[in-house]
Amino acid sequence: MSEEKNLSRRKFMLGGLATAAVAGVAAAGINLGGSKEALAATPENWDAEADVIIIGFGAGGGGAAIAAADRGASVLVLESMPVPGGTTRVSGGGCWFPNNNVMKAQGYPDSAEEARLYMTHGNDGQIEDELIEAYIENSPIVADFLQHKVGITWNLGLPDYHPEWHGGKKKGRHLSPSYKDKRSGEALMAAMYDFAVAKGAKFLFNAHAKKLIQDDNGRVVGVMAYQDNKEMKFKANKGVVLATGGFEWDFRYMKNFQRGPQVASVTFNPGSGGGIYGASDGLKMAIDVGADLRNMNESWGLLVYLLPGWEEEVAAYRANAKEYKRSTWQKIIADWFLYRGKPGTIIVNKHGERFLNEACDYDTSLYPFFHRDSYGKNEWRNVPAFVIQDSEAWNKYAFAHIPPGSEPPDYVTKADTLDELAKKLGINAQGLKETVNTCNKYASMKPPRDPFFHRGESFFDRTVSGDAAIAAQDPDDPAACLAPLTKGPYYGIQIHPANCGTCGGPRINGKAQVLNTKGEVIPGLYAAGNIAGLGGPGITYMGPGSPVGGGVLFGYLAGQTITAK
Ligand SMILES: Cc1cc2nc3c(=O)[nH]c(=O)nc-3n(C[C@H](O)[C@H](O)[C@H](O)COP(=O)(O)OP(=O)(O)OC[C@H]3O[C@@H](n4cnc5c(N)ncnc54)[C@H](O)[C@@H]3O)c2cc1C
Repeated sequence: MSEEKNLSRRKFMLGGLATAAVAGVAAAGINLGGSKEALAATPENWDAEADVIIIGFGAGGGGAAIAAADRGASVLVLESMPVPGGTTRVSGGGCWFPNNNVMKAQGYPDSAEEARLYMTHGNDGQIEDELIEAYIENSPIVADFLQHKVGITWNLGLPDYHPEWHGGKKKGRHLSPSYKDKRSGEALMAAMYDFAVAKGAKFLFNAHAKKLIQDDNGRVVGVMAYQDNKEMKFKANKGVVLATGGFEWDFRYMKNFQRGPQVASVTFNPGSGGGIYGASDGLKMAIDVGADLRNMNESWGLLVYLLPGWEEEVAAYRANAKEYKRSTWQKIIADWFLYRGKPGTIIVNKHGERFLNEACDYDTSLYPFFHRDSYGKNEWRNVPAFVIQDSEAWNKYAFAHIPPGSEPPDYVTKADTLDELAKKLGINAQGLKETVNTCNKYASMKPPRDPFFHRGESFFDRTVSGDAAIAAQDPDDPAACLAPLTKGPYYGIQIHPANCGTCGGPRINGKAQVLNTKGEVIPGLYAAGNIAGLGGPGITYMGPGSPVGGGVLFGYLAGQTITAK
């Protein structure tokens, strides 16, 4: 997808010019006090005011804007970037909406009870049931709103990530958007933008929010932001929605809060990610006004290949980027589920041991990297890790953007034997050979098996990660994921734990209101999207579209709650 070509950016920018209309609207006579550290200087004059101020226009901000604007509220969106859309714009844009009416109309039944079973298991107690209930209750409502009011066409997409769990589904909950000539995240964000603008929402681009402004009672009544180094203050008559995305590019927070090492992220968002815009400012604004935090140990997991020069690429991007494109990262290659789950492909650690089901979904694939030895140097046992293929797999499947059967580029190691490959990559050769022998024994059975990590046992493994042609013939055949590695030369590349965004931040309730450490609502403050500390909600990425679907949904709830008052 070429977002530069497809996105009606000109239109978006024209929308941005509407901001001239809001600048300079002074609101007089409000007493803000202002002794607290978190408070911005008491504004004597506001630069503009609106019922609802939304900080950031990705999935979370979009959901808030359409709901609030539709209910007749005046809406002002402050967005760091020169274009709307955030990471969501370059994403697949898929939304995970259980029990939606689109699936039912197409003959795929679902129920709130099944969704509850599935989500409760996935959540593993990480977040409150109230959020799960809000997600389940509002999924069909928000999907319908986006379809019938905002003008999105939904297409049924991929299975749940764990369709075999109680309440899991093989089809229907993942909805993929199209809108006009657009697809994916561009479609979702363009549709929400057009709708919000048509309903009168104003957008101020290149406007980076830095502080929340509270009154003496602790109510959030405004936002301080910068545009071209100019400080501005905006008054929020009804509420402020934080929708600034995750903190994945704040390395200190990543080290302090996440469960284990994550070397990089494939989010494309300097707005939430630091560099010229400041790292994780949305999160810091919430902390400054006393928000409780939740889910800070979670991210939407993903494995990546890092090509030589990737760190320089990231540094240059963070220093200079004014906008983001899908092509931003040339040297960080995501392995969503395209490569690692194919037959004749395994992942091993430096001991030569396998340690995960290589065909699982990308979020699940991260957790096995967080295992630490309990002896010696207490090393992260599975970092570094390596993808190993034999020549049959190499010749048959594309790998890390390399067409099948190509002469490998210098970042892929090739060797005639497993011994030689192990030596070149720094893997224990004996360990690797034993692992491959064991794999081969089980992969040669009819049907092939993986008694250790159960690869190929899930419908998801076979039909999404596995060989599409085999799965199309027989979706129950584990041969879609498993084959022995027998023929040299062998190929190897390091694979790294990473993410496509964090999902921890200010604790919200089922109405998207931010809570303080006593569990009380911080009046006037709402949050949605990756900053809102949901993650699925909870520990598990329920299915494709959890980040975006959950972001839009809780944004929508924020817009609804604010305007209900
Ligand atoms: C290639 C790719 C594909 C993906 N596909 C999918 C998918 O199909 N489905 C899915 O569910 N997830 C997908 N993901 C993950 C998903 O895109 C993100 O987790 C999600 O879009 C985050 O949404 P958000 O609203 O929280 O943040 P964002 O979309 O990043 O929006 C946050 C916005 O806030 C702005 N901002 C930040 N700080 C400030 C500030 N201080 N002041 C003003 N503005 C600020 C940012 O500039 C940004 O525009 C994908 C990710 C990638 C990278």
